Amino acid sequence: CGVFGIWGHDQAAKLSYYGLHALQHRGQEGAGIVSTDGQYFKSVKGEGLVNEVFNEEKLNSLTGKSAIAHVRYTTAGGGGIDNVQPLLFRSSTGTMAVAHNGNLVNANHLKQHLERSGSIFHSTSDTEVIVHLIKKSKKPRFIEQVKEALSLLKGAFSVIILTRDKMLLARDRNGLRPLSIGKLGDAWVASSETCAFDLIGAEFIREVQPGEIVIISDDGIEEDRYAPMEQRAMCAMEYIYFARPDSNIDHVNIHMARKRMGKQLAKEMGHIDADVVTGVPDSSISAAIGFAEEIGIPYEMGLIKNRYVGRTFIQPTQELRERGVKMKLSPVVQVVRGKRVVMVDDSIVRGTTSRRIVKMLKEAGAKEVHVAITSPPISNPCFYGIDISSDEELIAAGRTVEEIREAIGADSLTFLSPEGLVEAVSRPFDDENGGLCMACFTGKYPTEIFPDTVLPHLK
Ligand code: 5GP
Ligand code: SF4
Ligand code: MG
Repeated sequence: CGVFGIWGHDQAAKLSYYGLHALQHRGQEGAGIVSTDGQYFKSVKGEGLVNEVFNEEKLNSLTGKSAIAHVRYTTAGGGGIDNVQPLLFRSSTGTMAVAHNGNLVNANHLKQHLERSGSIFHSTSDTEVIVHLIKKSKKPRFIEQVKEALSLLKGAFSVIILTRDKMLLARDRNGLRPLSIGKLGDAWVASSETCAFDLIGAEFIREVQPGEIVIISDDGIEEDRYAPMEQRAMCAMEYIYFARPDSNIDHVNIHMARKRMGKQLAKEMGHIDADVVTGVPDSSISAAIGFAEEIGIPYEMGLIKNRYVGRTFIQPTQELRERGVKMKLSPVVQVVRGKRVVMVDDSIVRGTTSRRIVKMLKEAGAKEVHVAITSPPISNPCFYGIDISSDEELIAAGRTVEEIREAIGADSLTFLSPEGLVEAVSRPFDDENGGLCMACFTGKYPTEIFPDTVLPHLK
């Protein structure tokens, strides 16, 4: 998912709408904006893409100088309009709206406790847990209540909370999901990715730190903590696949990081007899360019993408997914016919994409197809909000590289090593893995995993 927030701007809703467009790649299943004028709250939400949910009239109804916004990618809680965020909770003691990216690993555990003590849930999204925890807190001040609630959460969250007089930003104590702060004139902005700041002309200020809560109001910005920072563990998949190439996370530009991943992979592969290097649009183009540069073979556009078809991974069933890939990608026959092709992609999850593309390139006349993947094999599920959800779906779980190669029909298959990945991303931290979460590759989870942690897609 993607979250966006703005405090203190006459065009709060319109800027949020632009912000959501910049974050659209983070979720295509639903979008919403909640605004406040310091008295009343207005909400517009819907299923589908940002431009399907909003129009001029709806944006005009979102009055007030502050707003938070969300694009939804269903992991926890399933679909349906009740799960589209921001969630808005009206109450006489304090209305609040919440937008959340990430997946809590103890949501079920907390939910059972809350229900036993009388909380009534309106959605199946684990975001609602946060609100009930705040309401249940016995602390006297609102900020203390929020801090207490956040301190009980385990797992991944980058969250924005909007009240009548404040906008709160917080990240989990490992910093699994990104969240940055920016400034637009006198207004404060927050976004999952910095590309939204560039779009609206805001200046990047800094990232919200793991374990930190930032309180923004008309009095300015106040920095506080609800918990100490633990081992930094930014999701490696943000760099590999999820984030937009023009965004920066912890001062590392995504496009440049992907290029380095491609170069590193080429180094690890050693000598290869090939005629062209191609990437799978859009997510692995940066890496393919780096790879081609490293081995001194031209990068070519061997595949084109129909940009009017949504991301195929998002569609729920295997059958639809298979059909989606075909609708989405086509080979450029003149580029691949009679050639030994290196096909660079960012990841193999179920193997559907790679298998189809290898077949497609061969049908288009490619003599050999060598698959080069700029991540290590994904052999463990993700509990933190990326849709890599169960062992059975992961082609790399319990298979050797040779077995995967055979399953996708490639002439060779090479994965980037975990060390090579860390080296290529080059984060400016001394923490383990440069402060990356690598759990889906290594099985080493940065948080505890609860006995009742439900795999996101099974909820
Ligand atoms: P597969 O077909 O192997 O299941 O999916 C891998 C492909 O899906 C890659 O090309 C990657 O760009 C794309 N993809 C879409 N969504 C995701 C995601 O959430 N995680 C990962 N790792 N890849 C994804
Ligand atoms: Fe990202 Fe993998 Fe960690 Fe999940 S397990 S947060 S996808 S690196
Ligand atoms: Mg891809």
